[in-house]
Amino acid sequence: MNINIVEEIIQLFTRVGQGEYFGEQVSETEHALQTAHLAVQAGVDEELIAAALLHDIGHLLHGLPESIAQDGIDGRHEDGGSAWLQHYFGPAVSAPVRLHVAAKRYLCAIEPEYLAGLSPASQRSLKLQGGPFDEAGIRGFEAERYFQSAVAVRRWDDAAKTPNLVVPGLDAYRSALETALARSTTR
Ligand code: FE
Repeated sequence: MNINIVEEIIQLFTRVGQGEYFGEQVSETEHALQTAHLAVQAGVDEELIAAALLHDIGHLLHGLPESIAQDGIDGRHEDGGSAWLQHYFGPAVSAPVRLHVAAKRYLCAIEPEYLAGLSPASQRSLKLQGGPFDEAGIRGFEAERYFQSAVAVRRWDDAAKTPNLVVPGLDAYRSALETALARSTTR
């Protein structure tokens, strides 16, 4: 069964991941692969690599048009994505996915240079996502068990928008996904 979920994920990226990644110069699948590759380079475990690869899976699942940030709609892809992932993976995978937009609001609140460094599309979507956290938002976020994992995913996410970058493909992540799935059933 777990093998089938891995295949389903790879099929999803292959079938619907070719669309533009929200106003950036890379496709959804390129963005996911670059995010995951940064996680591999950071030497983190398989579950966090899976979270990096799958952080925007909600975009692919609900099939909304590629320009939603420009249209002024917040698709809440982090909730749809993490809800789907929870059926198969443990919280070490689903929680950073659920929190990766909150991590942006958190970093914008605590690091002025982070806010200044966001891409134009990411600055636009920040407003729809509620803007930088206030004090209560910061505390609430830091109370989440996986908040540091979410911050890590967020930083890779922001750095994963390089046009035509050559990185390992989807096949390179089969074993990390299978390991992450296996851990979710043994914990
Ligand atoms: Fe992303």
